[in-house]
Amino acid sequence: MMIRAVLLHPVRFHRDHRFTRTQASAYLDGDLGPDDRGRIESHTHMCPPCARFMAGLRRTVSALGKLRGTATPRVGVSDGVLARLRDEPDNDGGAAPPPV
Ligand SMILES: [Zn+2]
Repeated sequence: MMIRAVLLHPVRFHRDHRFTRTQASAYLDGDLGPDDRGRIESHTHMCPPCARFMAGLRRTVSALGKLRGTATPRVGVSDGVLARLRDEPDNDGGAAPPPV
């Protein structure tokens, strides 16, 4: 199907290929109008490299979204750990330093 599309409309195929690569992020963000969405969807349907590209980008965006969701608690935990390490006595087996 890809080869047929390239042979029948080589210029359009390559134009859509480039368009898909440059607009993939906007497509996934839902920022494109119905015409542009349709253009990308029909192109990825017949272009396996673009289909893989979109799938990979979708996974990345989803992973980043999950990371963003957990970023704040993680920072909080490491801040707490750092604060505790700072407050702990040195490795002399002794008690905590006297309060200042
Ligand atoms: Zn393509």
